[in-house]
Amino acid sequence: MKKHNFYAGPSILSEYTIKNTAAAVENFAGMGLSLLEISHRSKEFVAVNDEAQALFKELLEIPAGYEVLFLGGGASLQFCMVPFNLLNKKASYLDTGTWASKAIKEAKLFGEVNVVASSKDKNYTYVPKGYTVPEDSDYFHFTSNNTIYGSELRQDPDLKVRLVADMSSDIFSRPVDVSKYDLIYGGAQKNLAPAGLTWVIVRMDALGHVDRQIPTMLNYKTHAEKESMFNTPPVLPIYSALQTLQWYKQQGGIKAMQKKDEENAAILYDEVDRNKLFHGTVATEDRSIMNVCFVMNDEYKELEDEFSKFASAAGMVGIKGHRSVGGFRASLYNAMPKSSVEALIACMKDFERQH
Ligand SMILES: *Cc1c(COP(=O)(O)O)cnc(C)c1O
Repeated sequence: MKKHNFYAGPSILSEYTIKNTAAAVENFAGMGLSLLEISHRSKEFVAVNDEAQALFKELLEIPAGYEVLFLGGGASLQFCMVPFNLLNKKASYLDTGTWASKAIKEAKLFGEVNVVASSKDKNYTYVPKGYTVPEDSDYFHFTSNNTIYGSELRQDPDLKVRLVADMSSDIFSRPVDVSKYDLIYGGAQKNLAPAGLTWVIVRMDALGHVDRQIPTMLNYKTHAEKESMFNTPPVLPIYSALQTLQWYKQQGGIKAMQKKDEENAAILYDEVDRNKLFHGTVATEDRSIMNVCFVMNDEYKELEDEFSKFASAAGMVGIKGHRSVGGFRASLYNAMPKSSVEALIACMKDFERQH
């Protein structure tokens, strides 16, 4: 039976990415060796690394003066590396969920952290608005897409302060005005590659302004100066990332992804709103295009397990909601085909008819 992959992360990748990665694991670049056993300094892999960084810049239209880094440690290590490198006195943070609050916790180790607003009061079901960011902040940090709660800040804020964002789960789903940012980061396992790779876009002039000493491996400069080859980078995920980036380009680039992602989300939210069994958990204007969270209406609450079983029998995988929200979450990343979203919708309709 065809499986429909709605996992939140690691998550669906294009068939192009998976097939080409599998082939390179057998025989990389015609070398007669596996991608798993070649030097990261071989000319064949250096070419992959260079092309992946170049294509990353091209697709996102990253202006001059920025570098793209491929690191380890996950987005979670960035919660610490960002303030280590950029927070001198004070930084402002927006608290929109679990990931944002983890970033806040780490930043507090490095200086004054001003939380400008939080949506914790309503279990993170909306994105706060109307807050002010003090102009003397070294930067303003936000999580563009809240993977767990399913809310999204889908534009680049207009502020006098430089921006830093965790875009782990919505990078490449819309054009980004990178020039407003000092730094953007994410774990690759949501819209790019298998787990093990962290990508960072950093404005080089933003570095070198903090008073503290920074350990070599945690200093962005170390990695920027060596094209992310200071130490052994995650070779296989970088290869896969290149495949995904090539696939994005073939599909028509970010605008094509945006169109498809917005259509997929729209048809699923329409069904969530229409179906008598379900309702969405997030304020309508803040709903994520990437992670659609919904729960069963109170009078049908006891059907939740039954729907889970019904959906998995129909081939749906990974729709269980995060434990802090409950219910269901369908993640609709860039590689998600419309046919899978339609299959989930059909499943919701069938289940409604039976009840
Ligand atoms: C998944 C996720 C993280 C954590 O990423 P790791 O690579 O596991 O550290 C951080 N932020 C957001 C928005 C995420 O979706």
